[in-house]
Amino acid sequence: MLKSSFALFTNDVETTSIWFNALRDETGLKVLKEGMPVLLDIYQTYNIKTTFFFTGYIARHFPDVVKMVIKDGHEVASHGKSHLKENGFDVMPFERQKRHLAETKKLLEDISGQEVVSFRAPALRVNEYTAPALIETGYKIDSSVASQRFDFFLSFGGIRKLKWLTAPRLPYYTAQDSLFKKGEGPLIEVPLSALFLPYVGTTMRIFPGITKIVRQGIHLESSRLNGKPIVFDIHPNEFIDESDEPRIISRRSNNPISYLLQDFFRSQLKVKNLGGNAILLYKKQIEFFAKRDYQFTTLKAYCKQNDFI
Ligand SMILES: [Zn+2]
Repeated sequence: MLKSSFALFTNDVETTSIWFNALRDETGLKVLKEGMPVLLDIYQTYNIKTTFFFTGYIARHFPDVVKMVIKDGHEVASHGKSHLKENGFDVMPFERQKRHLAETKKLLEDISGQEVVSFRAPALRVNEYTAPALIETGYKIDSSVASQRFDFFLSFGGIRKLKWLTAPRLPYYTAQDSLFKKGEGPLIEVPLSALFLPYVGTTMRIFPGITKIVRQGIHLESSRLNGKPIVFDIHPNEFIDESDEPRIISRRSNNPISYLLQDFFRSQLKVKNLGGNAILLYKKQIEFFAKRDYQFTTLKAYCKQNDFI
């Protein structure tokens, strides 16, 4: 085992309903009342500090969702303005990205009283303006790159995500104009864990068996090879159950092939093991790394401890 291995079990908090494949205020309320208490309870049980990325939308409509994480010592971070397709950081021009970043930072700081320095793009969608926009608006840490994740073609903005294949694996200072390349900084990229498949809640729920293999691989890499931090990504909306309401799949793509690939298959698969089963599966992920003496911490604390910021 290297000196110390880190496990960053990060959370994206938003109003996305996985069951309905849509953004819904009713889901936001369930995230506040059911999803977040479940997650916070898990973190208390295992004595874990972690980072919560909030969309500005959920923070504005349900500010308690932000306030509830502070007392346990978690980090408050930005997940952009909202998950609306037009607010994706791969389609917005520079000035609009800056406005969204600055507004969400201020909103979260006003609610939490914490300085907000970390960012993750909604759906990990970014472009060449995102690094300079983050730097100019005072962010210090990004975690929107999933290095060596190979299922990019199934997700929105797939072509740009080809750059995941060549992005460095270990945390790095980014280039001024690209989150995917090493540069002079000052922005530090802490990539999400992936080994062909991403180590995230969705994979954990859909393919629990394959997730074990990915997990073993990234553990061996971290402990034997290079000390790469484990960066998991979970959503409190994975712990809620909306199956009492009949499901109408809303259609996001107009092109029939991408509708089939991205909307239909994804929404069929993505509802697997939501709710109670997700809790059990998530605890298994935590226990695996807890048993192996990983240090569970926030992105900000990890970067400070390693002198990145
Ligand atoms: Zn998200």
